[in-house]
Amino acid sequence: MSESNDCLFCKIIAGEVPSSKVYEDDAVYAFNDINPKAKVHVLVVPKQHYANVAEFAAADPAGLAHLIEVAQRIADDAYHGAYRLVFNTGLDAGQTVFHVHAHVMTGEKLDE
Ligand code: 5GP
Ligand code: ZN
Repeated sequence: MSESNDCLFCKIIAGEVPSSKVYEDDAVYAFNDINPKAKVHVLVVPKQHYANVAEFAAADPAGLAHLIEVAQRIADDAYHGAYRLVFNTGLDAGQTVFHVHAHVMTGEKLDE
């Protein structure tokens, strides 16, 4: 389950769909959201394909912790470490891409 043929974010990770890269290492890829909801809106995804955060947490808890560390570093650089971290999970919660992704929203004071 390392890659899903029809998955947009697997294609972005593979470089088959262009993206604006923010950070990359062996395990995660981070890129700017195409439709930002905050001054800085970055998506952080594991390179391994999991449908949602619960699947990811169950299969690779250390990988999830690493992804959150990366989110923290992005926010440290963009806005003194303050950020909103969102994992939409399921269609009715607004998940549209079924490759787990953390929305990191930062770069400004956010509405409550
Ligand atoms: P979801 O609604 O699944 O939680 O989040 C999917 C996010 O992916 C949305 O915020 C949407 O703007 C973003 N997105 C969708 N297609 C693309 C794309 O092709 N490139 C980038 N950079 N972001 C995308
Ligand atoms: Zn995928």
